[in-house]
Amino acid sequence: MAVPKRRQSNARTGRRRAHDALKPKQYTYCPQCGAALMPHVVCAKCGSYMGRKVDEPPKKKKKTTSRP
Ligand SMILES: [Zn+2]
Repeated sequence: MAVPKRRQSNARTGRRRAHDALKPKQYTYCPQCGAALMPHVVCAKCGSYMGRKVDEPPKKKKKTTSRP
């Protein structure tokens, strides 16, 4: 198995990792209700997609306490 001859310098490691930073999530906004959304996703608040209604908005769930 091939083994590195020399230790990689801190500068070289840093240069490689210069591109590893995470970028903030991109949001779009629902044209119907203005809620922040991930792109290409049905609005979770009003159930619309590309300006038309494709799904019922989720009803508020009752709090179920399964644990005592
Ligand atoms: Zn919406």
